Amino acid sequence: ELPNVAFLGLGHMGGPMAANLAKAGYAVTGYDPVPAAQEEATKNGITVVGSAVEAVPAADVVITMLPNGKLVLDLYDEILGAAKPNTLFVDSSTIDVADARDAAGRAQAAGHRAVDAPVSGGVAGAAAGTLAFMVGGSEEDFAAAQPLLDVMGRKVVHCGGSGNGQAAKICNNMILGVSMIAISEAFVLGEKLGLDNQALFDVASNASGQCWALTSNCPVPGPVPTTPANNDYQPGFAAALMDKDLGLASNAVRSNGVEAELGLRAAELYHRFNTGGGGGLDFSAIINDIRDRSNA
Ligand code: NAD
Repeated sequence: ELPNVAFLGLGHMGGPMAANLAKAGYAVTGYDPVPAAQEEATKNGITVVGSAVEAVPAADVVITMLPNGKLVLDLYDEILGAAKPNTLFVDSSTIDVADARDAAGRAQAAGHRAVDAPVSGGVAGAAAGTLAFMVGGSEEDFAAAQPLLDVMGRKVVHCGGSGNGQAAKICNNMILGVSMIAISEAFVLGEKLGLDNQALFDVASNASGQCWALTSNCPVPGPVPTTPANNDYQPGFAAALMDKDLGLASNAVRSNGVEAELGLRAAELYHRFNTGGGGGLDFSAIINDIRDRSNA
């Protein structure tokens, strides 16, 4: 007997994730305040109800996929009392580590179980059921969540206790933001020095500069034909989302007194790029900002 699922937040990510659970045979009750999201979910076999509170009483598992931590905490305060005892709360939103621990604590204090389970893989991964999940919570709660996460994703990693899924996500994305900027700066410097992009790629991809930002998401067109750089920087992973994730990383860096000077600087550069109009482009488009500023 599959558990009953309540899915709250049926947006770009939550919509297709909930649809995959319904397709796999789970009874999914959902809520999202946006009418278009409600219609799409109904088409995909989800029973859409008129409020979050109505969605939870019959649920064994409550999954949330919301824009930010304040919304998650507010929603938990609204629904924890309406859920039956020992309901498993799974938050897949990307939020502050501190907010994730707070949310899990509130769920547990109300007699429930809770894990944080943020994702990477984007809208395409959500639709294809190939997301990567990074999970924070107890062994037992992780084990209870895993079968559902396996339906929505391809790779599920238990990262430790509450909040550690969010911690793993922001640490990974801090590496990614810093490394994309480093690769982009190197290409622009190479261009100024008269070095072909392809020549630098051929050297660095076979040498100690090798990294994912170079060989899988190369920010210049040419060397890796599948990257967003070859398609007018259509995402991919949008710079606006990198800005958000580096903001969360910066909060954690500051509140834990970590000397992450490059992580904080990468957050500033992506914030400037995002608010300057680049937010809808792939995050590798920051190379054009670096090149423009270098030619100013
Ligand atoms: P989205 O804005 O498309 O979806 C969020 C949905 O939550 C919206 O439809 C909104 O109406 C709904 N919502 C807001 N308050 C609600 C409430 N109280 N009850 C029910 N629904 C409510 O955002 P998204 O792109 O789906 O992203 C969701 C989360 O996933 C974010 O935390 C984001 O950082 C993370 N994420 C996104 C991507 C991506 O590529 N889009 C990738 C990885 C992680």
